[in-house]
Amino acid sequence: MRRSEFFLKTSQAAPKGETSANAKLLTRGGFIDKLMAGAYTILPLGWRVMRKIENIIREEMLVVGGQEIFMPAFQPKENWERTGRWKTYEDLYRLKDGNKEYALGPTHEEIIVPLAKKYILSYRDLPLYLFQIQNKFRKEPRAKSGLLRGREFLMKDLYSFHIDEGDLERYYERLKKTYAKIFERVGIGDKTYLTFASGGSFSKYSHEFQTLTEAGEDIIYICDKCRVAVNREIIGEVKNSCPECGSKKLREKKAIEVGNIFQLKTKFSQPFGLSFVDKKGNKKPVIMGCYGIGLQRLMGTIVEVYNDNKGIIWPEAVAPFQVVLIGIDKGDCGSKVRDFCEKVYKQMADEGVEALYDDRWEVSAGEKFADADLLGIPYRIVVSEKTMRENKVEVKGRAKDEIRMMSAKELADVLGRSK
Ligand code: ATP
Ligand code: MG
Repeated sequence: MRRSEFFLKTSQAAPKGETSANAKLLTRGGFIDKLMAGAYTILPLGWRVMRKIENIIREEMLVVGGQEIFMPAFQPKENWERTGRWKTYEDLYRLKDGNKEYALGPTHEEIIVPLAKKYILSYRDLPLYLFQIQNKFRKEPRAKSGLLRGREFLMKDLYSFHIDEGDLERYYERLKKTYAKIFERVGIGDKTYLTFASGGSFSKYSHEFQTLTEAGEDIIYICDKCRVAVNREIIGEVKNSCPECGSKKLREKKAIEVGNIFQLKTKFSQPFGLSFVDKKGNKKPVIMGCYGIGLQRLMGTIVEVYNDNKGIIWPEAVAPFQVVLIGIDKGDCGSKVRDFCEKVYKQMADEGVEALYDDRWEVSAGEKFADADLLGIPYRIVVSEKTMRENKVEVKGRAKDEIRMMSAKELADVLGRSK
């Protein structure tokens, strides 16, 4: 992508009204634009990051047998009355049109369970795993943390349907590993803890995935021996000890919930009468699980975890581009530098390396460097009169101070490895 043609404007000044690091950096870097509290437009640069996160999540959902669907956010009141949540779901946006009322979906059990009822008749139709990556709406009273807490946001929600609790438990255990893998792949694995949390009335615990950051709104207690944590909301219930080993040596930390998995069992199949006929001809309720990840929250969390005073430091797997290519053009050698940049840019395109080519020749080198740091692209490649004399380019990792001179071949090796 040529910077001169890219829909991107950066700013070194902090945006007004934002207090969180993720909102400040993502706004300054031209990744997002605020419409109102809790609602952000994702701009092309941000959308490249979101798509990478989305693809990682989708790949892992397909591995565990998920089939992708897309359900409406616009939902009839009757479904929400059936579960009793029209009255009790505090964050629900309720719409009125004449004498008809609707909900804007904050989650989709009320839609997917009646849908599943049309398809699941016998044990032969189970298990079934359906997921979507879709917009959710929630009346968040404290939407002040940028992408961490939106009033409209993308969620991946997976719903599983089983013949019995044993089958649900096996799948649930598998999903714990899948979730750990997703957080590992997006680059926050070492900061993310499987966390015991409240299970609601149907299960002893649910499990959250909590990422350590000072920006987090949750408090968790970590057991370093088991590498699990307990959410403060149930620390009394577990008698201030690790549910796995019983140890009372726990570390208190601030964290943000990036994912949540839940054994719903019959909580939603019951009100909708979702049942199946087993091998012996007996009618039984379908047993369910649900599994959520917020995509914007994940993106915001990565920024909270990986930044410095110059800007964002994206992990390679979710970076919007792998490299930013900068030409330094002084006086009459300009056209030579430009030609060389074009050559390097073309070579990277041929090799499938995603490059942002900062071809704004009227902008100073200092400004281009500051922008590259703000955007957090993993590698910065500089072409100048000096590097050209050696027929090389200058390469610097975003998180490293070291600058290396490389030939085109060496550069291809480095970038090939990072792909
Ligand atoms: P929280 O306690 O932080 O409000 P929650 O318990 O309401 O979260 P869930 O209903 O379990 O969250 O939603 C599943 C996932 O969706 C969460 O783990 C989180 O990643 C994401 N999520 C929830 N609320 C928001 C929000 N307002 N903005 C962005 N992502 C969200
Ligand atoms: Mg919530």
